[in-house]
Formats: sequence, C-alpha cells, structure tokens
Amino acid sequence: MFKRIFYGLSFLVTFCIMAISMGGTGLAAYLTDIPEKYSSEINYLLDRKVITGYPDQTFRPEVNVTREEAATMIGRAMGLNGQQRTTSFSDVPQSSYASGYIQSAVEKGILTGYSDGTFRPENKMTRGEMAYLLKRAFNLSSTSYVFFSDVAKSGTQYTAINTVVTAGLANGYPDGSYRPNNPINRAEFAVLVARGLNPTYRVSSADLIPIGERIVTADSLNVRVGPGTEYKAIGSLPMNTKITIYYFHGDWVYFSYGSLKGFVHSAYLSAPNTKKKITIDPGHGGSDPGAIGNGIYEKELNLSVALKVKKILDQKGIQVVMTRTTDTSVSLQDRVKIGVDSGSDTFVSIHGNSNLDSSANGTETYYSIAGTNTRSESSKQLSSFIQNRLYKSLGTRNRGVKTAEFYVIYKNPLPAALIELGFISNSSDAQKLSSDYYRNQAAEAIAYGIVDYYNWKY
Ligand SMILES: [Zn+2]
Repeated sequence: MFKRIFYGLSFLVTFCIMAISMGGTGLAAYLTDIPEKYSSEINYLLDRKVITGYPDQTFRPEVNVTREEAATMIGRAMGLNGQQRTTSFSDVPQSSYASGYIQSAVEKGILTGYSDGTFRPENKMTRGEMAYLLKRAFNLSSTSYVFFSDVAKSGTQYTAINTVVTAGLANGYPDGSYRPNNPINRAEFAVLVARGLNPTYRVSSADLIPIGERIVTADSLNVRVGPGTEYKAIGSLPMNTKITIYYFHGDWVYFSYGSLKGFVHSAYLSAPNTKKKITIDPGHGGSDPGAIGNGIYEKELNLSVALKVKKILDQKGIQVVMTRTTDTSVSLQDRVKIGVDSGSDTFVSIHGNSNLDSSANGTETYYSIAGTNTRSESSKQLSSFIQNRLYKSLGTRNRGVKTAEFYVIYKNPLPAALIELGFISNSSDAQKLSSDYYRNQAAEAIAYGIVDYYNWKY
C-alpha cells in the first residue's frame, strides 16, 4: 500500500497551553487549558486517569517525558500493575514512585533496560524509543512504504517507526524527517497513547484492516470508547448484531457497525457460521481392550467418558462425531478417516494410562507437532485448555501437556489432542476412574476445555 511520505502538521510545536502530568492528582475539571485541537485525546486519557494534572494545576507541555514517566503513563494506559516493588534495575529502588510500572512494563516487553543493568529512569525518552514502546504496547506489526530522510531504511529502529506511522499513531515533519533522537514532550506523548488506545484519533486509519465478523451473543452489549469497563459507554448492541472487527486489545475488540465504532468485550461475541464439529475418539474397543488393571478395562472407561463428553457438547450446540459408540474394533486409520470425512474441524482421543510401576500416576494430554504451524499451534492450545481443567476436576497429579507421535494425533490433518485420563495401573487414580462421579467430572472438564478452545480459535 502506498503511504504518504509524511503527514502535514507536527503537533510538537502546537501546544501553547495545556495541563497534564504523570504524577499529580488534579481533577479533569480543573484542566481548563487543554488545547482545543487535542482536547478529545487528552480528555479521553483523563477519563481513565492515565493523565492527571499537577497539584498546583501547572501544565508544562513542553517538558520532556522521562523514561520513568513514560513507564508510568503507559502502565496506566495498559492497566499494568503499578504496585511499588523491587525491580530488576540497580537504579530503580522500590521506593521510586514508578518502580511498579517500570517492572511491569519490562516484564511485558514494552520497555527494556540497558546492558549494564540500569534503567536510567530520568533519561529523556526519544521519539525513536517511543516508537519501540508504542509498537510493543499496542502490538503493531503492519508496515508500509515509509521513508524518512533521517532514518536508515534498515535495522530495528526503522521497523518500529514504520509500524507506528503505518498504524497512524505518529507522523514525521513537513521536511520529510522523523527526528528519532529528539526528546518527546508530554503533550506529544499523550496524543500518541490516545491514538494507540483508540483508532478514531489516529492520523490515518487506512491501515485499519478488518480481521473478521462476529455476532453479538449478549442481550445488550455495551460499546465503550476504550478497552475497559472504566471507559464511558457510548451505546449498546442488541443480540445477534453482526459487527466487523479490527483488532484485539486484551479481552476487548475494536469494531465497527455502520457508523458506530468502539470497543466491546470479546466474551460476548461468536464467529458467524462457525461449524464447530468435533470428532471424539474413545481409544481401543472390541478385541483391543487397551490397558487392564484394578478392575478397569480401558476401552470401557474411554467409551464411558467419551459418551458423557458428547452429551455435554450436544447441549452446547457443538456437533459431535464418534469414532465408535459401542464396544467395537476400529482401526487407527479409520478413526482419523472418520474425523476427516465427517468434515470435523477438531479431533480428541480419550485414553487411560498404564505403567508397570504402579506408583506412576496423574493426568496428561498429548499433541503432535506434525503438519502446519497452524495445526500444531491449535493442537497445543486444545490440549492445554483440556489439561488445565481436567487434572483439577479429577484431583490428579498434573503431568502436563506433552508432545508425542501417536497415530491418531500424528497422522491427522485436524487439530488433535490425546488425553490420558489417569493411570489404570495406579490404585488411587483407578479408584477415581472407576467412579461415575469422577467420570462425569472428567467429561465436564474435557467438554469445557473444548469450548475454551473454540472460544480461543473463533
Ligand atoms: Zn489407550
């Protein structure tokens, strides 16, 4: 996409009177000298107390932003933990007002320290550093044709500046320069953060590209001006409204519907016409009993839990295909084929574990890294969602999510997981796996893990 080389006016020199600070406690109502041109952006941040006035109501818009001030302001904007605490840096003591936000921003990868172990909190933030911060804080990745006379078209600085300009957050100067080493002042910083949080303030939204459509699943879904309940609601969307979405900010998503634009919580959205069809595969069966021990036949355990999973998923509107519903033999090849031929989008195989060492115990879930990255990433997520619920509801040891090349997950084009409920060979695990109560617990955990996965995926 062609991009203008620079955008007209720099806001750097336009602020005459303005009142913001990072450290004060002033109220928005007192900040009567906010410049008209950027009053929307500034008030937007005042709403969330990202910016506050100084106690003496002074302003100082030309004052440069220090690195500790930048950490504090971005921390508030992103809702990071600002609790003062010990940090990784020799020059940021716990007593520093910014210690919590600095440590949080560093943990999130939004800011970095220096190789000598210092953070240099009072150093001035430059426009180049600001580009890094914005890129990381707002997960910007799109680039376009961008040229600045004073930024070499290689290296990480160019990439960071390119992404923030492409996203319409920052711009260059009329002379075609970006001035990456210039310090940034507080007025400029505030405008950039507001643009990061809310695209309606951006210089250009040409690069705001729809990533899909969603259907509202709540009776009345609040639309807010920012990604959080602390932002003002500007409207609501009725159930079944189809909206266009652009990007996620945590659990919140920026959308448009006609002329209405804003943020809604993603938990109340579903993908349109998502098929959600899963194949559930109870391991073994017929002439193949699987593991046997402590009075349990694995094939019976697997089928029993699988049928309970099917029942719960049916109620949730997820179509379920079974590789077997009775005590019959089904080859591994046929199990995979049933999943693929049925048009399923996901595959889950259910097993019980066994070991010669009867002390081995616990729950684990496997996926395979075979196939495309998309498939293996989906398989990993599927396995993690299931495992995280399963060991807890069974009260078994968490043996974790693992990779292995079992046929039904390895030779499978669908995202796939193979669950080992517990050890039939272990008396404690077996006692649970014998009981209908724990089989219900297991089925519920697996079904909800699958729902978690679909929510993540779509
Ligand atoms: Zn098995």
